[in-house]
Amino acid sequence: MELPEIERVLGKGHPGFRARQIYDALYRQKVSGVEEITNLPKAVRQELASQYRPGVPPAAACWTSTDGTRRYLLTLDDGRTVETVFMPEETRDTLCISSQVGCPVNCRFCLTALMGLERNLTAGEIVGQVLFLLREHGLNAASDEARSRVNIVMMGMGEPLLNLPSVLKATRLLADPAGMGISPRRITISTSGITPKIAELGREPVRPKLAISLNASSEEQRRELMPITRKYHLRDLLDACRAYPLRPWERLTFEYVLLGGVNDSAADASRVVRLLAHLKAKVNLIALNPGPGIPYQTPDPARVHAFQAIVRRAMPCFIRKPRGRDIFAACGQLKRMEEGPPAVTASASVRASSECSTNPTTVVGFPAR
Ligand code: SAH
Ligand code: SF4
Repeated sequence: MELPEIERVLGKGHPGFRARQIYDALYRQKVSGVEEITNLPKAVRQELASQYRPGVPPAAACWTSTDGTRRYLLTLDDGRTVETVFMPEETRDTLCISSQVGCPVNCRFCLTALMGLERNLTAGEIVGQVLFLLREHGLNAASDEARSRVNIVMMGMGEPLLNLPSVLKATRLLADPAGMGISPRRITISTSGITPKIAELGREPVRPKLAISLNASSEEQRRELMPITRKYHLRDLLDACRAYPLRPWERLTFEYVLLGGVNDSAADASRVVRLLAHLKAKVNLIALNPGPGIPYQTPDPARVHAFQAIVRRAMPCFIRKPRGRDIFAACGQLKRMEEGPPAVTASASVRASSECSTNPTTVVGFPAR
């Protein structure tokens, strides 16, 4: 809830600072229950607690990869579940969160696509994933140090630009210096290319960084791999990117999933360079993360490097290291699996729900990393 909503919920008859006290407790102190807001009069606490609780979803299950990545299945109020992923690194932690339950966009290489769309997430459910991960991993301090470790990517389940109002509200809540205080430079949303929404996003004063899933080097190839291109043509998508009002510090990121023998040739790389010419862009290459029902192959690493070498002559180009492939937590592998990912290896581990969290209102993490 943003501040005006808390004011509305409180109603009349409270001092002016009351709503701000609650906002501060929820988003800066990150309390796990209304009863913890001890600077509120007891009666107010009791009344609020009878109707509301901080929207931190409990974990139904979690899986740990050999590379330290953790994948969580979180339960929403209506009983649906959504996936969220924590990727620890030396100097930073990446929180990969979902924007929808499932996804309506039918990309041929993505497991989430096989679920279809169940529903949009609310802003509270999007922020709730972040609060859950911060708490679970001991990063919930309102300190600069904790904040500077955290990077948020909306690259889990769903197409964020098809749930733009909630994604924007969640971004405001995450970025508010009086609340969670995570800089918009540390928040990225990734889109399959919902062209009209790109302009809408560009008009927002508080907005995350934008990544575009390009994934093909021509209109025809993209139609094949990402049928949404029939509605939102690649040519128009790139026009929208050229018109996008980048902030001075910002670059557009283009993600490119490499599918062995399909879109990973030297000719593809040269076409990508031509498509992105005149854009302030960088390219992230992602070798396909395989999955059951995905009719493509992971490319040969030599081809990935050859592709990078060509693109890198024109613009920054990086190869994304796959994280959590053994627990199906890597890009494009999130399809709800209450029964667990299909190929948990002997060294990856699975935890039962009781070890991930205790109950819906008080989420107590198991020891951080
Ligand atoms: N729906 C948004 C964000 C979620 S997908 C989008 O498509 O951009 C996040 C990233 O994973 C996208 O760049 C997508 O192209 C990539 N991806 C999807 N399936 C993949 C797979 N099987 N292997 C590697 N990357 C994949
Ligand atoms: Fe949806 Fe993104 Fe997967 Fe495409 S790649 S189906 S847009 S989650």
